[in-house]
Amino acid sequence: MTLADPTMSATSPSRLFEKFSPVTGERLGEYAIAGQETVDAAVARARTAFPGWRDTPLEVRLEAINRGRHVLAEHGDAYARKIAADTGKPIIEALMFELAVVPLFLDHYLKRAPKLLTRRKVGTPLALPGKTSYIEYFPRGVIGIISPWNFPFQLSVLPMISALIGGNTVVLKPSEVTPISGEVVADFFNRIGLPPGVVEVVQGDGSTGAALCRAQVDMLFFTGSVVTGRKVMAAAAERPIPVELELGGKDAFIVCADANLERAAEAAVFGSMANCGQACVSVERVFVVDSVHDRFVELVKRKLAKLKVGGPDEQADMGPMTFEKQLETVQRHVEAAQQAGAKVLSGGARLARAGLFFPPTLLTDIRPDMEIYREETFGPVLPVIRVRDEDEAVRLANASEFGLAGSVWTQDTDKGLRIASRLECGQVMVNDVFSSVGHPGLPFGGIRSSGIGRYHGDEGLLGFMNTKAVLVDRGKADYDPIWFPHKGKLGFALDVFRGVASKKLTSVIKGFLGLRKAANEAHKNDADDSK
Ligand code: NAD
Repeated sequence: MTLADPTMSATSPSRLFEKFSPVTGERLGEYAIAGQETVDAAVARARTAFPGWRDTPLEVRLEAINRGRHVLAEHGDAYARKIAADTGKPIIEALMFELAVVPLFLDHYLKRAPKLLTRRKVGTPLALPGKTSYIEYFPRGVIGIISPWNFPFQLSVLPMISALIGGNTVVLKPSEVTPISGEVVADFFNRIGLPPGVVEVVQGDGSTGAALCRAQVDMLFFTGSVVTGRKVMAAAAERPIPVELELGGKDAFIVCADANLERAAEAAVFGSMANCGQACVSVERVFVVDSVHDRFVELVKRKLAKLKVGGPDEQADMGPMTFEKQLETVQRHVEAAQQAGAKVLSGGARLARAGLFFPPTLLTDIRPDMEIYREETFGPVLPVIRVRDEDEAVRLANASEFGLAGSVWTQDTDKGLRIASRLECGQVMVNDVFSSVGHPGLPFGGIRSSGIGRYHGDEGLLGFMNTKAVLVDRGKADYDPIWFPHKGKLGFALDVFRGVASKKLTSVIKGFLGLRKAANEAHKNDADDSK
């Protein structure tokens, strides 16, 4: 593993960016921004390492990557503290949501990858007699992975290990907002001890990400905002190379009249405030059926009041926000909603203390024309929308630019499943929140502006692979009946065609026997002519 050092570049003078603590505002350090030359060199090292890693047997690759669990067991505590200092999140959230998911996914893929990535036989149709067919997978090559700041470890490491298991090599560009976590990721892979060049990390800002998109990578895997996702996709289209986009969300949370309101309120608070609301699958629009609206809001308000806000060392439930610009977006959304008639029942304004602290905020009387209803807020805000009934909730939930995740709250599981089927998004939970994203067997991703492609689950490995179709004929016959010449075969071809179209086996067999006879005669005449 190499953490590329941009200051080593001979020709390009290095630019720097500074890192400030979201908890105290103090300056924590400065980092060099990798330019095109540094990125190209990292990609070149990953390219050189690719054939060796690709040709390493899958079991050996899995064994090597699985060393990550021992690294986490030994260094996880220190890593969690560094990630917490970098992002401001509570240490327990760094441990559970950033680190603990990694061994969970490793366990899943250790079992699943050998079955999934091995060549498999598929049935061959009658219209291709005498052949056998297989599907096999081979790695795409060097994968450029660009990650965001909200879960800077998990959202880097999970796609990285998925790509590596398949035999790809990886160049990661972590977010400039959380460079300390970028260093933690680099340290993690360094300690795993993969061969040189198999994992490269280039630190830097958006210009470094853009440089990675321009470099000679074979696929781009991007997690971040819709605005940047468009740029990444446009860059990928230039070559063109495959691109996977994991973008934003405006997740709906539908509370039916028969919901367990206590559980639903508890979940709405957790789903909107965990990680200080900075999760792509945060609860961002809570639709509550009229008959239980007021009771639900009351419960939520009471629960929000109990949350303790503070830095990682204060054993708080919620930390500060991680990124100043995001806090400004939250503030703008809340103020605009308030001016347009929304009621602020708790929180609502930045806390008067050092750091990026914004309190848990509850808004009611939210309408679809408000910015906070339509755009991703990505902060500790819980906007509640009163709806007539469940049908109205589903209609409003689906009328969104986004489609990442959603949840339904009802004590009637069948009804919950019916509503889940009607929601247009990548994942839905019934009476649960967040959990599907932590399930290694379930694919994760969005529709519409929430993204393209899936990771986690089987799709999460196959997305990093090229698919190869293999067809085998034993090669005993000198020719196939359908090959040249065509003369004298049309009637038999019609028999095959009609048989295939109307599923008449006898017609297919009759047609093929005729084709074979005609082909044999043509080749016999050919042989006679050449004597
Ligand atoms: P962002 O788009 O600002 O930045 C993401 C990454 O892209 C950073 O590393 C950044 O340096 C890089 N980047 C910036 N400009 C670039 C360019 N022109 N070319 C290439 N790379 C460039 O996003 P963010 O603020 O870091 O992350 C928050 C967003 O991520 C939210 O919208 C959130 O919903 C989304 N997100 C999605 C998922 C998911 O899985 N769907 C998960 C987490 C976060």
